[in-house]
Amino acid sequence: MTTLTFDSINPATGEIVGSHPKQTPDAVHEAVGRAEEAAAWWAALGPAERRRRLLDYKAVLAQHLKELTTLVHQETGKPVGDATLELVLTLTHLDWAARNAQKVLGRRRVATGMIGLNLAATLEYLPLGVVAAIGPWNYPVFTPMGSIAYALAAGNAVVFKPSELTPGVGVRLAELFRESVPEHPVFQTVTGLGETGAALAGDPRVKKVAFTGSTATAKRVMAACAENLTPIVAECGGKDAFIVDADADLKAAADACLWGAMANAGQTCAGVERVYVVDAVYESFIRELSERVTKVKAGEHYGPITMPGQVDVIKRHIDDATKSGRVIAGGPESVRAPYVDPVIVEDVPEDSPAVREETFGPTITVRRTRDAQEALSLANASAYGLGGTIFSRNARRATELARLMRSGMTAINSVISFAGVPALPFGGVGDSGFGRIHGADGLREFARPKAIARQRFAMSGMNLTSFNRGPAELERLVRLVTFLHGRRKR
Ligand code: NDP
Repeated sequence: MTTLTFDSINPATGEIVGSHPKQTPDAVHEAVGRAEEAAAWWAALGPAERRRRLLDYKAVLAQHLKELTTLVHQETGKPVGDATLELVLTLTHLDWAARNAQKVLGRRRVATGMIGLNLAATLEYLPLGVVAAIGPWNYPVFTPMGSIAYALAAGNAVVFKPSELTPGVGVRLAELFRESVPEHPVFQTVTGLGETGAALAGDPRVKKVAFTGSTATAKRVMAACAENLTPIVAECGGKDAFIVDADADLKAAADACLWGAMANAGQTCAGVERVYVVDAVYESFIRELSERVTKVKAGEHYGPITMPGQVDVIKRHIDDATKSGRVIAGGPESVRAPYVDPVIVEDVPEDSPAVREETFGPTITVRRTRDAQEALSLANASAYGLGGTIFSRNARRATELARLMRSGMTAINSVISFAGVPALPFGGVGDSGFGRIHGADGLREFARPKAIARQRFAMSGMNLTSFNRGPAELERLVRLVTFLHGRRKR
């Protein structure tokens, strides 16, 4: 007999945290049907009332902070402190999305130009309908809510499929939403394995898929979406670079580098994976890093590897890196599943898997570069392009480097700080995906622009869209266009 439920397991203890239904394609389609009706109601509610409900939901989540952080801690194994930080960041995003939706998406007049002088033009961003959110396990609240909060604020209903590793917290997020919006199932969670997600992405009534997960799965989800021309925002993996320039504060850089790489056991899409340090400060930086890394331990400063299968990937990268490079900290013996202690290896060839593929573990490769320019070239020579970091005391130079970094986001003199600024869009280029969550772009991602041009009066002698148009009208148009656009700029 087929199993109708699956368990979420505490990766640190092996204990069962909860049991959840493996929702069948039929169950998923029923949820989408309910969401379609709820979407119409939610859209008609209007922006002011949606804002009120979402701010109320924020308060409900804040009141359940301890319960939610405990659940995140149990399902992912991450320390309660890190789970708390994740929840707090989520609240700030929910707050921003609720408060800014009307301003960003609401109806506004736009200029019509000389040829449209007799028109009044307006632009607004309307809800799409049902949005499907498919989320990962590494930040099971912050990451999916980066899509869910913005999609809800834009007036859509959401059906959320959490990772099979963290279904409990996903279910709870939707249950708590009902305290603020009891009338209709505007936000539902469906649980199950990959097939449940596939059924959701393939439902033709879903108007957008917000996918967060690996690049390989994104391609599968996109293929399913292609059947119905369903658009997708793809938030995928990363191989983020950390550049240390000659004038950097090396103590601060080493501290940030270590946290950015090892926090959450390195299971952060925008975590530090590759470090490039300019020659002039290389030895001093390595000294700072080596000193600090001895004090960081798995199971004490960060939790276990949440997804058991990921340990093999991490092990393969460590084995490969330690064979070809020089060990600064840790080594193959650092893998003691489900925990992995920090591993730092220098001089690993740039074409090796440890440098090219996403490791998603507490490991970094470090490389000496001639200067910041070479560091940037190496940083940019990656299929991924999610985030990145630059440490330098020269704000102008650092900003220049940041602008040239081939990534969606770059932090200067801090790590991953962009994720905590709700007004900043989050997303990548290349294998890291496309589309944006967070910020105004994140709101517009879940809305469709609606353009309206209203004729205010008929322009006598200039009716261009009529079969009654004569040569005199065309002549006037050519004179006007030559006056407006015919002057060359030399
Ligand atoms: P996966 O790609 O394995 O899974 C992501 C989600 O997709 C899960 O809910 C999964 O369900 C679901 N899924 C699996 N197969 C299908 C399918 N055929 N159709 C629809 N849905 C499917 O990623 P992980 O959960 O392992 O997450 C880690 C990855 O996420 C890393 O690469 C990380 O970098 C990336 N990530 C990116 C972020 C970003 O914002 N750019 C943020 C956080 C993580 P199930 O779990 O049940 O298999």
